[in-house]
Amino acid sequence: MSWRDERNALSRERLERAIPAIFPATVLRHALSRPLKPPTPRLAVESYWRHHLLRADRLARALAACSGQPEGWSWRLGGEKGAGLPLTFRMPPSPYREPAHARGRGHCCICGQPVYRFGWHRDLWGAGIPNKNASWHSACVAAWKLWTSPSDHVKILKAGQRHRCAASGKRLFKTAEVDHRVPLYRVWREHRDAPWPTLLSFWGTPNLQVVNRAVHAEKCGQEAGERAARRRLAAAEAPSESAIPEGLLSDPT
Ligand SMILES: [Zn+2]
Repeated sequence: MSWRDERNALSRERLERAIPAIFPATVLRHALSRPLKPPTPRLAVESYWRHHLLRADRLARALAACSGQPEGWSWRLGGEKGAGLPLTFRMPPSPYREPAHARGRGHCCICGQPVYRFGWHRDLWGAGIPNKNASWHSACVAAWKLWTSPSDHVKILKAGQRHRCAASGKRLFKTAEVDHRVPLYRVWREHRDAPWPTLLSFWGTPNLQVVNRAVHAEKCGQEAGERAARRRLAAAEAPSESAIPEGLLSDPT
């Protein structure tokens, strides 16, 4: 018996002992088909979502849509201590992580919905109440990783596009890169007031594409040019001190 067979036999034994009578069948099937079997139900659930990332992304956004945007919330940035605001528009807005809107233990800080056993999103066990020790869904954690570092998941995204460049339609090279169709600086500039669950789709698969490196470099160049042009325009429009009539600067008394 090889090292791997031995380890898998042990893991399978542990998993089967720990698994409750009710457990998502697809997750169990996934766990038992892994080359290295996860030894606990929680690890089985994590592994399932890690390998079904696009599904996790869809689910997390659907759960967010169930929660909706909290009353009085708007997308803001800031380094203010304790406010829980993202520092940059590159991070997906997450109102339920902000202390002012957090729903408390047993609720997912990413989507706002109740969390059940093993970080599952549905109450398969009929517990009636969420798991007070949990503060995120396994699926939402997987989605969050995709949203915040999509380049780490280029392989899965490539497969989702059948290995074709989203811009040129040509075959994707090894060096292909992940791109946001609508760049995030434009999301902040032009879509800031969109409802929060809609905003999330700019970080999810609806706005992610894998393109060949040359195409990506060209797109980034155009975007940088456009941003520079806007900055120049803004600078030209802003009144400089010398343009303000003298009387307005001095005290009228
Ligand atoms: Zn969630």
